[in-house]
Amino acid sequence: MAIRRLLILPAVILAITATVAGADPALQLRQYESRHFTVRFEGREDPALVWALLERLESAYRDVGRQLGAFPGSRVPVMLYTDGKFPVHASVPHWAQGLFDGQIRLAVSWAALHEESLDKTLRHEYTHALIHARTRGNVPTWLSEGLAVANEGRGADHERNLARAADRLIPLDELHGSFLNLPSTQVPLAYAESAAAVDYLLSRHGAPKVRALLERLGESKNFDAAFQEAVGVPYADFRAAWMRRVIDYPGAGG
Ligand SMILES: [Zn+2]
Repeated sequence: MAIRRLLILPAVILAITATVAGADPALQLRQYESRHFTVRFEGREDPALVWALLERLESAYRDVGRQLGAFPGSRVPVMLYTDGKFPVHASVPHWAQGLFDGQIRLAVSWAALHEESLDKTLRHEYTHALIHARTRGNVPTWLSEGLAVANEGRGADHERNLARAADRLIPLDELHGSFLNLPSTQVPLAYAESAAAVDYLLSRHGAPKVRALLERLGESKNFDAAFQEAVGVPYADFRAAWMRRVIDYPGAGG
């Protein structure tokens, strides 16, 4: 499409091939750049698919940026595993298609790059990248995961119902660290609570306060103080109100 080429072509600096430092010199990393992203991958290349991916990432940049009121100053690195598998050492749930660990990593085969559902993954992982840049990594996991789900462009009904069905909720302040440290049986509930809590935070207090919170987190390591200042209520009160909401209103929306 002409419009797509106009958007992407001036921004693509050329496909560069570079040898991976310290790796098999026969293995080559290919690199494509758009205005806000650098995509790297190994092996054969399919330029049309890479450009299409860059265009979808640029779309995530615009949409998520508008939601969170933030646009990173430097290009976001994206590593693409076109065999559809993460490296064996990657700490990632088996069902995940993407992860963010300082760069966005996508395990998506060339064939699956066509799939419409990939946009959810791109928006989810880009949200993590944006929040990381905005807060300098000083963000509780529940907040980052919940915002990532909120920006996928779908509702959080499934997660709300999962949280409501749980025998016991994990307190939000126990969901600040990596979910990889939780017992594996608790991980789905941790994700569900994150989405449900952010859904509640956004509906009860509004997106501008969430944006302000991210901004404060970029300046302060004290989450409770940043929360109180940006949202206007103590973090402990928010946690209690959210739990009451989950417990007291089974089946209620919002
Ligand atoms: Zn995530």
